[in-house]
Parts: sequence; structure tokens; C-alpha cells
Amino acid sequence: MLGLMQSQPLLISGLIDFAERHHGDAEIVSRRVEGDIHRYTYKDSAGRARQVANALDALKLAFSDRVATLAWNGYRHFELYYGVSGSGRVLHTINPRLHPDQIAWIANHAEDQVLCFDLSFLPLVQAVHAKCGTIKHYIALCDADKLPVDSGIPNLQSYEAWISPQPAQYTWPSFDENTASSICYTSGTTGNPKAALYSHRSSTLHAYAAALPDVMCISARDAILPVVPMFHVNAWGIPYSAALTGAKLVFPGPALDGKSIYELIEAEKVTYAAGVPTVWQMLLTHMKPAGLKFSTMRRTVIGGSACPPAMITAFRDDYGVEVLHAWGMTEMSPLGTLCTLKNKHDALSDEEKMKIRLKQGRAIYGVDMKIVDAEGGELPWDGKTFGDLLVRGPWVVREYFKNEGGDPLVYSGADGKEGWFPTGDVGTIDPDGYLQITDRSKDVIKSGGEWISSIDVENIAVAHPAVAMAACIGVAHPKWDERPIVAVVRRPGMDVTREELLRFYDGKIAKWQVPDDVVFVEAIPIGATGKMLKTRLREMLRDYALPT
Ligand code: ADP
Repeated sequence: MLGLMQSQPLLISGLIDFAERHHGDAEIVSRRVEGDIHRYTYKDSAGRARQVANALDALKLAFSDRVATLAWNGYRHFELYYGVSGSGRVLHTINPRLHPDQIAWIANHAEDQVLCFDLSFLPLVQAVHAKCGTIKHYIALCDADKLPVDSGIPNLQSYEAWISPQPAQYTWPSFDENTASSICYTSGTTGNPKAALYSHRSSTLHAYAAALPDVMCISARDAILPVVPMFHVNAWGIPYSAALTGAKLVFPGPALDGKSIYELIEAEKVTYAAGVPTVWQMLLTHMKPAGLKFSTMRRTVIGGSACPPAMITAFRDDYGVEVLHAWGMTEMSPLGTLCTLKNKHDALSDEEKMKIRLKQGRAIYGVDMKIVDAEGGELPWDGKTFGDLLVRGPWVVREYFKNEGGDPLVYSGADGKEGWFPTGDVGTIDPDGYLQITDRSKDVIKSGGEWISSIDVENIAVAHPAVAMAACIGVAHPKWDERPIVAVVRRPGMDVTREELLRFYDGKIAKWQVPDDVVFVEAIPIGATGKMLKTRLREMLRDYALPT
């Protein structure tokens, strides 16, 4: 017997419709690329999202066609989130920090038809457009009078000129909630970047879950500042959860330095902010010497990399701000676990509470997780035994876009059909269900919240005629969390200096992905299967210190 309730598909257009109707006057404030502050309401934004949908129809874009963005967090980007996905197209948020060649590769792989970009990325678009064969329309996210002349970019028009002739009336189409809504590439693992293709259903369920009290706890009483970029896993879903709850949204635009963020928090009475540890490091570094305090900030969610204990303590003791430590990944939309305490922890001392807060937290309902040994056998939740972390759930990828990399899942269960996504993270789970990430089995380095593929770094090094072997590892860094260094074995009788090798990286990868140092070694330890033993190499370089 089937239930007799209405079956309305979970569509992203429903979120903006709801926001307009139920909290249409809640504000969305953005620092623009131009430097000034723009403010309007959810109601204004909903109308403009419908203009975007009409403008896409006018371009004759088909259902599921991809519309790319190279944009900071701001109101126009927010309108694209809804106008593109709501009208049945797929929003492709490109990470502008990638190397131009990688951006072109991604745009071609996604077969983007339109590219909307902030003017800060004009030189980038000028550098890549000739390589992006599928893109037919370029939209600069600016007023008509700010449109660059003689840019050399074909079919370039300003966003305002593009949408202004379009009516603000539009009937959002209804379709299967499993339809693709947005796409996000992750360059984390080896080989070419792979994309998570989110659906309306996965994004909406994630938006509900993210807002829960024990998750990000977003409500209509919050003014929320997503510092985490909208080009990085949909800013952890905040643009959706904010519309769902009616939280005021404050977008930082391109100004991510400590001073600008602090001023925005104070001016807009932000209660809640989200970002990677590096951003908060810059904020605290700005605030401390000047003796600055927050007047409204109460909570911050920190994820993307392990949150350093000193940061949790500083926020708590010096500023009265509660840190919520979060763990997730692009393949998980991204939220997996959030660290909030349980009722039974009330009586614990501050020190004992801190031990828990440092963990990555408890699984959100909707995410099933387990740790397994090398044979795939499930390991106990004792807080001590560590194993490979597997996840599954309605907002976890089943496969990558275009089946890139084949079937990523590992299978278990009585019938061998339970598909679990291997996260590439290693951790423990305690009896209360708190996950603690202890290591990474994937060969990548995360610097300031962004990926550096150690394989890419090694491949470039060994392309140098004087290099016989190279191994890239991450070294702890006070500001960037981790920085890459490369250990190199020279070819017999050949020479290369540290400076020459570092120069060899010029133009081959993004500047921030170039290793901080080269360490010349006699040999790189090799394991039984012929693979480089990076654990051993890390031990060998235990006393190594990064150049200052
Ligand atoms: P995001 O940075 O949004 O979490 P990514 O896909 O870029 O998404 O990165 C996911 C990876 O980042 C995880 O698999 C893990 O290795 C690392 N990571 C994310 N959050 C944490 C955290 N809180 N602690 C430790 N590592 C983390």
C-alpha cells in the first residue's frame, strides 16, 4: 500500500519561491568586486533569478545545458544559483584558483555553453576563452557601463544588460527531482579532475539537513557570512539553507583579508560565519593586536581542514564565539559530520569538552559512515582503532560525471550490493559516534583549503632532465595548514639546484601549488609493491623545517 501524501518534487526553485513568500524582506548584502556594498532582499533576488531564467531561455539553452561561473560570493552569483538550476539547467561553479589549463579542461569536459564571470577574472577568461570550444556566450557580472571594451572575448555582454530586458515573471518548470542541478569538480585525487553532479533532490535534502540545530544550526535569527566560496561545493550549501530558513545573507565578494572580513561582520551584525581555518587565522591575526572584539558574532563553522586547537580556544576564550568543527567533501555536497556536544557532555570540564570539539563530529542523518580495515572488514567504534572511512547517503556521489575514473564505490553487505564511497580519509569513531580524522590515504596536500596533487608536483620534477625520482609530501604550516615540499634524487653525474628546480615549475601549475622547498635525498624509500613509502619519507624528514 502506498502512502497518500502529495508528491511534490524537491526542486531548488522551491527554495527561492519559499524565501520570497515567507521572508521576502530578509536582506542579502554583498561586497561587490567594485568595492561598494550592495543590499537588497530575497524578494528582489527571486525576481532577478527569474529574469536570469528568461535570459537563458532567450539564449535557447536546452534543459540540462551547463552554465559556468567564475565568481566570488555575491548577489549575482546567488541569482545564477537559482535562475540556472531552477530553469532546469546545470550550474557549473569553476574554481578560479586553478591553473588556466585546468580551467579550460574542466570547461570543455563539462561542455559549458555560457560563462558568467566577475571582472576580477577578466584576464583569466582572456587567457582561456580560445581553448573553451563549447562556450558560446560570455557574461561579465557587471553593469552595462562597466563592460570592458576591446576585451577580445567573443559575444561578451554585461549581466545587467543581459537580464534587464527580461520579465521578472517566470513559471519554474517542474521535473524529476533527480535531475542534475549543479556540478563541481574536485582536483583532489590523481589524474584529471572529477566532478560531482548534484541533483535537485540531493541539494534540497542537504539544505534541510545543514540547517538542523546539531548541524549548522541556521535560522531566521541569523545573519550568516559564508566566507567559504560559492565555487567550492556551493559554499557548503549555505545559499540553499539560508533561503530555506530566512537567514540574512552577507557575501564578502573578493575581499577575504582579515580587516575586510572583520569590518563586514561588524557592519552587518553577522552572527554566524563559515570558512576554512586559513581565513579565520587571517581574521584573528588582524583582531588580536588591535584588541578588537565582536559585537554580534556567536558561532562559526570551520571545516575543509582540521581545525587547530588554538583556534577553537581563541574563538571561545577571547571572543565568546563557539566553533563548530565540520568534516565533508565535494563528493558529499559536502557535509558529513559536525561536532556539537550531547546533553550528557554538559557536566564535563572545559578541557574534556575541548577534546571532543577537536574531533570532526557526529554523522548527520542522511550520512551513513563506517571505518574498515584493508580487507573491507568493519572496525569497532572504540575511538582508538583507525581505518578507511566509507560513507553513503542521498547526497553522496554514486559515480563521477561521465563516469570518469569508473565506479568509485566499494561494495559490501550480505549480498555484496551495498555501495559505499571511499573518502580517502582515515579515522577513528568513538562509542558516541564522533569521527576523528587521523590521516589521509589519498595522495594529496591541502593548503589553505585548496588541493595540491602530489602526483602533479612529482611529475613536473621528474620531467627535469637531472631528476631521477621525486616524492611530494605536505609539511605543517602555521598559516596554510599544509605546504608541499618535494624530495628529489638527482640523476648520477647530473646537477640541479633548488632554485633551478623551483623555477622549472613556472607556468606549469598554479603559483600557490609550487612546492615551498626542494630537499635533495640519496634515495626515496620504496615499499614491497614498488610504491614510494611516504610514511617512511615523512619519518626521514621529521626534523625538517620549512624555509622562513
Ligand atoms: P571541503 O573542503 O569542502 O570539505 P573537498 O572535497 O575540497 O571539500 O575536501 C575534502 C577533504 O578535505 C576531506 O576528504 C578531508 O581530507 C579534508 N577535510 C575536510 N574537512 C576536514 C576536517 N574538518 N578535518 C580534516 N580534514 C578535513
